[in-house]
Amino acid sequence: MSCLLKLQNELIKGQKLAMQGSYQRRAPSKKAIPHLLVARKGLKEYVKQYPNSSLAWQLLSLAEEYLLNYNAALTALQSAVFLNEKDKKLLKRLALLTEYAGKWQELDMTPEHLRSLETYLQERLELRLCDHTLIYTKEWIDISTLHRKKSHIVKAIQNQGGFCDCEVLMNVID
Ligand SMILES: [Zn+2]
Repeated sequence: MSCLLKLQNELIKGQKLAMQGSYQRRAPSKKAIPHLLVARKGLKEYVKQYPNSSLAWQLLSLAEEYLLNYNAALTALQSAVFLNEKDKKLLKRLALLTEYAGKWQELDMTPEHLRSLETYLQERLELRLCDHTLIYTKEWIDISTLHRKKSHIVKAIQNQGGFCDCEVLMNVID
């Protein structure tokens, strides 16, 4: 068990350095990545050896989530739930993660896209207040590599509560 504790500490170190928002949509900071990778590698080995450790699966799920691998995070958490079906907290966590994963997939933007959009909107909204439209968001899509998927992206952004540029900053990016 001391080994799992070590991995858990590594994960916590990585998480503290990651500086991600509540949705884990930002890529983890560069400093955090080595810790997260070490934790993930160790946890993967651990669950191979001890597949009945619900805690190890949960930690692995977190490591994957911090690294923005939502599908892998979901699979790991499902294994944890399978071992511990009566744990209500775990079930709640699974429901939440499923929701995040769905949103992330729907948005179809990389963390780099999101950061670029964030900078663009912050700069524009400093010069002019939000006029309750998505004018700058759409402008950014036009000049980004996503321009061919514009209507899909706009719809996904609206589905996540981004109906104007300031809401995109508040509800979609953070
Ligand atoms: Zn607004």
